[in-house]
Amino acid sequence: MIRFENVSKEYPDGTLAVKTVDFQIQEGEFFVLIGPSGSGKTTTLKMINRLIPLTGGTIKIQNKKISEYNIHELRWNIGYVLQDISLFPHMTIEENIAIVPEMKKWESGKISQRIDELLDMVGLDPSTYRKRKPNELSGGQQQRIGVARALAANPPIILMDEPFSALDPISREKLQDDLVELQKQIKKTIVFVTHDMNEALKLGERICVMKDGEVVQIGSPEALLHSPATEFVRDFVGTKP
Ligand code: ATP
Repeated sequence: MIRFENVSKEYPDGTLAVKTVDFQIQEGEFFVLIGPSGSGKTTTLKMINRLIPLTGGTIKIQNKKISEYNIHELRWNIGYVLQDISLFPHMTIEENIAIVPEMKKWESGKISQRIDELLDMVGLDPSTYRKRKPNELSGGQQQRIGVARALAANPPIILMDEPFSALDPISREKLQDDLVELQKQIKKTIVFVTHDMNEALKLGERICVMKDGEVVQIGSPEALLHSPATEFVRDFVGTKP
């Protein structure tokens, strides 16, 4: 479980990006953070794996403050998928996926088997893709590798920051559908940032709506659609891109 307790973030220039946020994310939950540009979604997400330090409050994972975890232990237990993919271009797909298992000193046979398993999971044939370089893959395929890499060492938590937003609508929809199916098998705790309400409604078990660094409402897709807490949520849910 991930617990935010009175969490705030003020950047050194004085921008108050997150203001006293309090919520819990359950184990195995698909939790979506949504809100307009600048509402504090990415800041909130990056505080979980300590890419951004908090300036107030506490975040706990399994009842332990994130500040008390060894940073490697924390990051190895949290997969991270970004919008701009960030695969290493000079490395093959298998080398990209193997990074964390190698850091964790897994035995090479186990890593190789895991790569095949992960490529199957994300719908790419291992014999075709293992030895390719990222630039020999489409954007959607690269993003699938990003997901495989995040899952490589089987972390219980996955953070995803607008992972599909650079893709064309058809690839994007296919990846969303496949992620829903994948999550049924893997049951990770997923924290997913988007500004697209259709995507949030399709993926999220609970959706957290942020505005100006504050949480406006947290609820199921049905709750947001049928009982929006404020005019802002009503408009935001109603505004389909
Ligand atoms: P987007 O959807 O555009 O990515 P977001 O909801 O993820 O936006 P954040 O990136 O968390 O929002 O930014 C929240 C606020 O903090 C914004 O006002 C932003 O300008 C500000 N901010 C983000 N990073 C920094 C930084 N390094 N220094 C100062 N201010 C920052």
